[in-house]
Amino acid sequence: MRAQIEKLNELLSSKKRISITTHTNPDGDAIGSSFALYHFLIKLNHEVTVITPNRHPDFLDWVPGIKNLEIYDEYPDKCKKILSDSDLLFTLDFNDLKRASNLSCAIDEFNGKIVMIDHHQNPDGYSDIEISEPDITSTSEMIYKFIELSDKIHVIDKNIATCIYLGMMTDTGSFQYRGVNDSTHKIISSLLSFGIDNNKIYNSVYNSNEISKLKLLSIALKNLELIVEKKTAIMFLNQADLIKNNHRKGDSEGIVNYGLSLKGIHFSVIFIEDENEKNKFKISFRSKEDFPCNEFAFKFFNGGGHLNAAGGLYKGNLNSAIEYFKKSLNEF
Ligand code: 5GP
Ligand code: MN
Repeated sequence: MRAQIEKLNELLSSKKRISITTHTNPDGDAIGSSFALYHFLIKLNHEVTVITPNRHPDFLDWVPGIKNLEIYDEYPDKCKKILSDSDLLFTLDFNDLKRASNLSCAIDEFNGKIVMIDHHQNPDGYSDIEISEPDITSTSEMIYKFIELSDKIHVIDKNIATCIYLGMMTDTGSFQYRGVNDSTHKIISSLLSFGIDNNKIYNSVYNSNEISKLKLLSIALKNLELIVEKKTAIMFLNQADLIKNNHRKGDSEGIVNYGLSLKGIHFSVIFIEDENEKNKFKISFRSKEDFPCNEFAFKFFNGGGHLNAAGGLYKGNLNSAIEYFKKSLNEF
């Protein structure tokens, strides 16, 4: 990491026009790491824009700086112009161009230098500077390490610390996952010293739901199926459920964890149909201990992620999706 950061700091030694982008359906770590870096680079006197492929969920609408976010889906021409005027492009919290969906072409065609900062396994190799740390639990923590290794801790302020805390909190399941270690907590201790309001951040993310979220949770729980001999829980939400309950972006996030909360269950999956396209499912996988969600997602569902949390896709009807899942599980 140190050698890559030295190269990066060379690029940053003169004023640059910089774009920062992240994966589609940005989550707390995607938004947290992007805006932490945004505030940091602005303080170093660069010109910076954050561009996401599509809109973030409402529960991230309070993040410092997010009012200046550009959303590619909504203003593609404006975003293309910003990208073509940039000297430097950061891609954060993903390492596979596919994950940037509609933005991936623009990234592919980018003329300046690309810097990837990410914590997923097996990077694609599309960047000029690749900072990849699969053992670190969030990209936001990597941003802290980047700042620290650049001898710039003194530049951190409450906004930067808040954004880093957000990403670290969400990508560690509020500090419960394996991979959280003494270094994670030392960084949290440092962030708290900048006066962040950890309780407010938690409540903004987890205790600001609309009723639609609980309605969808109740439907998913009603659909819960257990395969006890495989220690597996299966849930689904179909398009009609989403539409009937005024589904909002982010409402279905986290539901998959309820399957894992059961004693004796080590693997949980939820199939969520696309709100706009029938027979297209986004799948979330979660596991306890050693069950490799990422390998399973990669092998059978064209996806990937981490050991205990991964995602994938399936095209076809719900019954065939679940059949295929069960068959794959038997094979795995
Ligand atoms: P989630 O279930 O919350 O959407 O995703 C869990 C984890 O899996 C995240 O770390 C995310 O980066 C990764 N992930 C989700 N969907 C995909 C996918 O389609 N492809 C890959 N490679 N990773 C994914
Ligand atoms: Mn992440």
